[in-house]
Amino acid sequence: MGDIVCKFGGSSVADAAQIRKIEKIIRSDARRRFVIVSAPGKRDKQDHKVTDLLYLCHDLADQDVDIEEAYHMIRERYLAIARELGIDLDVRALLDQVESRIRAKASRDYVASRGEYLSAQVIAAYLGARFVDTADTIRIQEDGRVEESTYAPLGDALAHSGMYVVPGFYGSGPDGEVKTFSRGGSDITGAIVARAVNAEVYENWTDVSGFLMTDPRIVDNPRPMRLVTYREIRELAYMGANVFHEEAIFPVYKARIPINIRNTNAPDDPGTTIAHQRDTRDGVVVGIAGRSGFSNISIEKLLMNKEIGFGRRLFGILESHRISFEHAPSGIDTMSVIISDEQLKGKVHGLLEDLRKQLNPDRVDIAGSFALIATVGEGMAYHPGIAAKLFTALAEDGINVRVIDQGSSEINIIVGVEAKDYERAVRAIYRAFC
Ligand code: ASP
Repeated sequence: MGDIVCKFGGSSVADAAQIRKIEKIIRSDARRRFVIVSAPGKRDKQDHKVTDLLYLCHDLADQDVDIEEAYHMIRERYLAIARELGIDLDVRALLDQVESRIRAKASRDYVASRGEYLSAQVIAAYLGARFVDTADTIRIQEDGRVEESTYAPLGDALAHSGMYVVPGFYGSGPDGEVKTFSRGGSDITGAIVARAVNAEVYENWTDVSGFLMTDPRIVDNPRPMRLVTYREIRELAYMGANVFHEEAIFPVYKARIPINIRNTNAPDDPGTTIAHQRDTRDGVVVGIAGRSGFSNISIEKLLMNKEIGFGRRLFGILESHRISFEHAPSGIDTMSVIISDEQLKGKVHGLLEDLRKQLNPDRVDIAGSFALIATVGEGMAYHPGIAAKLFTALAEDGINVRVIDQGSSEINIIVGVEAKDYERAVRAIYRAFC
């Protein structure tokens, strides 16, 4: 019987009522033995995340401003949770310790990590589970990635029978001090634990029932995605579909452990499973994602294809302006680069000047207000007619396609349209494939 690793996000541990839901979920399947928790998140729109309050306390202490008021909010959250759950743990003493460390100007990462630390202590006490501190077991490199040498000892620390609760978001850095992952990093901890115990599945419990085929703000009630591959989710996440921390994919991807995104508030929903493979007979296209806010720079020069080093010089110019590009579709005598407006901010004039001077082109144009839409699905390469269907749908809706790009992996077709056509185009593509 394989074990299940369950990570519960901020909304799933926001108050005692949510934690009771977690208990029910865990008790309903004996394989759910490893529980990773976030710090309490928002209970409603006006509420604060505990992690944000901790950062605030750190910054106040750093500037010698009293933390009393800000820390009071944190204290009250944990005390209320502990009281309502009726647990037998001296939460006050733990809260006092954390407070005095903050007042003594503990590091920013240390202070931020206490949200998960306290959450895990409280939930371990409630579930009668073992608490394992990630400060002693997860080693994080300077660049924020986990060290390979983490896995075997972490597996040993989790090798007894019974249930474990593990705080997300932090480990220790090369200097042995507490170090956090980037924001939302409890997803990464869950993936690391899943790999360390070689779990059968990594369940990531959140407040939505997985991924939808497209943005529900654009299409009413889009279909949920039941099964999606790692490669597909990478493409979709990059284009804006985000439920899951992208760095969390790596550890489980390597260990070939599927991820199941589930909803704590609707535990019977099957959610979305991310796996290595799926049967494309269930649908070649799995999702449609997009973003606006791009510009397209196109460069034309007769006999460009014969000019050795043209592409290198073009990309060299972008590099010298510290601009990263998204796509670079090309023709015989044309090359274009699609760049996010954010990257171009304040640099357009200098960039165009250098392109003209150094490449000596016949023409350089820049067109702004572009949106990119990715239609994603494994097996596109082997299914004739996908592109025809996509472009027919756009043409029938009178949408002008300005750029087309298909990555070499052939799991997506990207179209660039004018920003004003963006939402209409997403709806047209969705209708064509659903
Ligand atoms: N509590 C951390 C944050 O708010 C990490 C997490 O929830 O995953 O970013």
